[in-house]
Amino acid sequence: MNKTYKICVLPGDGIGPEIMGEAIKVLNVISEQTGVSFSYDFGRIGGCAIDEDGTPLPEETLRLAKEADAVLLGAVGGPKWDQNPGNLRPEAGLLGIRKALGLYANLRPATMHPSLVEASSLKPEVVAGVDLIVVRELTGGIYFGEKKRYTSEDGQEVAEDLLIYQEKEIERIIRTSFEVARKRSKNLVSVDKANVLESSRLWRKVAERVAADYPDVTLSHQLVDSCAMQLVRAPKQFDVIVTENMFGDILSDEAAMLTGSIGMLASASLGEGSIGLYEPVHGSAPDIAGRGVANPLATILSVAMMLRHSLGMDEAAEAVEKAVWAVLDAGYRTGDLTEDRSQALGTVEMGQKVIEQLQKQVVGQ
Ligand code: NAD
Repeated sequence: MNKTYKICVLPGDGIGPEIMGEAIKVLNVISEQTGVSFSYDFGRIGGCAIDEDGTPLPEETLRLAKEADAVLLGAVGGPKWDQNPGNLRPEAGLLGIRKALGLYANLRPATMHPSLVEASSLKPEVVAGVDLIVVRELTGGIYFGEKKRYTSEDGQEVAEDLLIYQEKEIERIIRTSFEVARKRSKNLVSVDKANVLESSRLWRKVAERVAADYPDVTLSHQLVDSCAMQLVRAPKQFDVIVTENMFGDILSDEAAMLTGSIGMLASASLGEGSIGLYEPVHGSAPDIAGRGVANPLATILSVAMMLRHSLGMDEAAEAVEKAVWAVLDAGYRTGDLTEDRSQALGTVEMGQKVIEQLQKQVVGQ
């Protein structure tokens, strides 16, 4: 009997439902071609869940996610909820699901496809050939440390965010990044701010200790400010970058822009359990939501990552990636990838082009 995988689908807010529609169509084509079935359980997260359920992460959503083989997420957030208190903000849903599923490693590849070199804001000679991956710690650090707001004795409003890491939290993400580096060019850069932060000094110490178990991988350290500069000056020096939560949030967006558009970037969040969560790097793009112009490729490439990392369908993953590259090679672009908006495809048209390419291929599992 053919296998059925349970996919928990969380479209979220803004352009989330639009791009997710195309991702599911792609999965359905993969199903037709491989005989593997996918069942979809839809849940709410983020702003839409705040409106409907009074919380950004309803219990029901968490239940669906925990019962699934993988979670596919669109994006959350929007101006409507920007003034909400912290626990009622859409992002709290994202942080909550990552924590609840124990997803401590966020893998964000930034690969420069040759036909998109011109879409980058940097010079072609700087970005051509960029192929790096940022491994970001996802469940610790300042985003999860204790937060306080109070008024000081002299009447000043004060805010505190605690940046805290335990040794074991650092060790597991460092190990993940060594494993990733091992499968690539065996070159790992650990990014911290060890000249200023105590948490970074612990980070560096743990990275050095773990390195002894990976003699085949070269480990070096960079300060986060220097890394931010090097990423735009000479990005090809990087292969795998590992860093803590907040630095990774910022650096992975910077790395994203090397490759032209945030609309192209997929991500995988993995943990100790078997469930992975797959989502585009970009947000809910409220400025273009509802207009049918969002680029669905980051979400479609997230589907490829899901096929590879959670479902063991490597061949299908490659077929999806090949279909996306073929569509780009043929010159098709969404508005975010081209100056000439008059020729740009909409979300559904772009999804359809990928499907047509996929249907030309013979896809195994
Ligand atoms: P954003 O990524 O939503 O948008 C930044 C810019 O990129 C916008 O001009 C947008 O139109 C464009 N863009 C993004 N995705 C695109 C796509 N697929 N196709 C074409 N253009 C695309 O970031 P933002 O504007 O800073 O944030 C908007 C909302 O999204 C906020 O509420 C923010 O909190 C939230 N957000 C959510 C996530 C997530 O769900 N993982 C990540 C980042 C931001």
